[in-house]
Amino acid sequence: MATPDSKQARSVCPLDCPDTCGLKVTVEEGKVTQVTGDPEHPVTQGAICHKVRQFPDRVHHPDRLLYPMRRTGPKGAGRFKRMSWEEALTEIVDRFRSTIHDYGAEAILPYSYYGNMGLVNNGSMDRRFFHRLGASRLKRTICNTAGNIGFAHTMGIKGAIDPEETVHSRYVLLWGGDFISTNMHQMMFLQQARKQGARIVTIDVRRTRTARWSDEFIQIYPGTDASLALAMMHVMVKENRIDWEFIRQYTTGWEPFRRRIELYSPERAAEETGVPAETIRRLARDYAAVSPSFIRIGNGLQHHDHGGMTVRTIACLPALTGQWRYRGGGALKENGFSTVDTLKLERPDLLPNPGVRSFNMIQLGDILLQANPPIRCLFVYNTNPAAVAPSQEKVIQGLKREDLFTVVHDLFITDTARYADLVLPATSSLENTDVYKSYWHLYFQMARPVLSPQGEAWSNFRLFQTLAERMGFDEPCFRDQPEDIIRQVLDNPANPWMEDLSFEELAEKGILKVNPAKDPLFPDRLSRPEGKIALYSEASASLGLDPLPGYRRPREGGSAAGPIDPDHPYILLSPPNHQFLNTSMANIPKLKRIERKPELEIHPDDAADRGIENGDTVEVFNHRGRSLLSARLTTDVPRGVVVAPGVWWNDAYKGRRGINQLTPDREADLGGGAVFFSTAVNLKRREYSKNAVT
Ligand code: SF4
Repeated sequence: MATPDSKQARSVCPLDCPDTCGLKVTVEEGKVTQVTGDPEHPVTQGAICHKVRQFPDRVHHPDRLLYPMRRTGPKGAGRFKRMSWEEALTEIVDRFRSTIHDYGAEAILPYSYYGNMGLVNNGSMDRRFFHRLGASRLKRTICNTAGNIGFAHTMGIKGAIDPEETVHSRYVLLWGGDFISTNMHQMMFLQQARKQGARIVTIDVRRTRTARWSDEFIQIYPGTDASLALAMMHVMVKENRIDWEFIRQYTTGWEPFRRRIELYSPERAAEETGVPAETIRRLARDYAAVSPSFIRIGNGLQHHDHGGMTVRTIACLPALTGQWRYRGGGALKENGFSTVDTLKLERPDLLPNPGVRSFNMIQLGDILLQANPPIRCLFVYNTNPAAVAPSQEKVIQGLKREDLFTVVHDLFITDTARYADLVLPATSSLENTDVYKSYWHLYFQMARPVLSPQGEAWSNFRLFQTLAERMGFDEPCFRDQPEDIIRQVLDNPANPWMEDLSFEELAEKGILKVNPAKDPLFPDRLSRPEGKIALYSEASASLGLDPLPGYRRPREGGSAAGPIDPDHPYILLSPPNHQFLNTSMANIPKLKRIERKPELEIHPDDAADRGIENGDTVEVFNHRGRSLLSARLTTDVPRGVVVAPGVWWNDAYKGRRGINQLTPDREADLGGGAVFFSTAVNLKRREYSKNAVT
């Protein structure tokens, strides 16, 4: 509640979450005292999650980095002393210049992700700077790449439904995501749908909050979802529960597709998924019987070796019953309507060396340890790879290299910043001008600063603009102001759905919706070149991949039929918990207290096999590394699967080894995506003593 001494202003949640909520921020005497939801936001409607209501504790955290600092102890010790911005900028520019002179610009690597989703502070001036520098390029693949490409191989676009229309859905499959924790406003729409009679079914490995809320929960073995989808389609075709007219008019490749799914009987799928064949038959019949039906495809599915194919296969389901005809029918992976002109924003044309090498971000450890010629300078912002990147031990060893010059720009001394030579204080989103597009709903939103920069914090935008100036880059794009970037975001003639958006209107209203009706996807604007849904995918074929939907076991772990490697018989999943967002917010004491500590959920029978009891310290290990967690016995997870919700900072773990010590840095089948969940491990009970376990 605003008082005479306080002001309230609108803002936007910057975190890597599909909801991109509108916020109402109360500021009193120069401090943020309350963050709530903006009731005027058409989608988020005043509701926000518990974690972001703690934003005042983040912005004014006692550990907030307020001025630049230089490392004084060994890498990783976290000892720093204050320095001035002038000293820091001079050192960075000198180091970049000497590196370019001695080794070439490719010896410099930017490393960032979406800790801040604003396009002014992530995805414009930063990219321009590193492109102009000629630095090695980074493929930002760690989250949604495989699934988005897989969905597009079927549909031609990564998302084909406005989520606001899902209130009209009458049968819903929530597949592979705990949406109460990760997309809460989708659940608000489905709550309305349910009041009007919708049945909601969750398919997931673990009995999550979302699973408990649903009308039915179908528990499935990790990485086998494509097998279930194929068997459902097998039943639907065999029992003639499909829309022949729709298939004939709006899909390609029916005959080879039909022959393919004939191979996938419910009995065969039951062996892989652990879902009984009769349940698969009933699920297929239920799904086929009701229109409009809607599938919300979660993030978990794609984090397997064949994650792209899994999402592509599930995306075929709505076509069989013609769901794209109906309002509220279809499937959604991500918002595909708000594509911006990245060439204009990021300016890859500035590269002095267009053939410059590029690296997949999920392989940071190998990049730092094995790239040839080596990386000499690493610049990290908007992410915390020492905690979130897979194969963590290699990442840490790489960050420890004495000859590596590392700069981290962040709000805190994160796990990664502990290894930096220089740490630079970043503004929070509440201190920035920025524009946000959601990867779920269809709105662009603009935020103005509601607070002055804290201490000597600089925005990413200001930092990279200043570095460009110091490097002598004189192209006009380096003189753009945040408002110029926002205009460029809205100006994308190639996107018909954004045609009516103007900067002036966004600046006045703060929020604008893209218009899918401007150029409807259905019936003929789907997969190119035919404009039809690709049951047989030329896009997959052109990459040398199987053009038909299919299922293969993950390379690690196995299926419900049994493990591949008896020495590592458990599959480890590390999904998001309820109170953190990746490692953002994982240093807020109130949220840490709620999440308690890094825990490993284990089925009681598996625990009994290993002599593990509730609360015991458990060592999870494989050939990549090990991590110590506290056992939590629960029947929410199936036998053979252990779950470590997170992501905690490494210092929360006994021995400081995070859960990503265990995860592989292999690439998924599409887009070089991450395969966090195709991780096989073993377990043992450990006596923990701070001195004995390192
Ligand atoms: S984290 Fe997600 S749900 Fe929470 S406020 Fe931000 S956008 Fe909304």
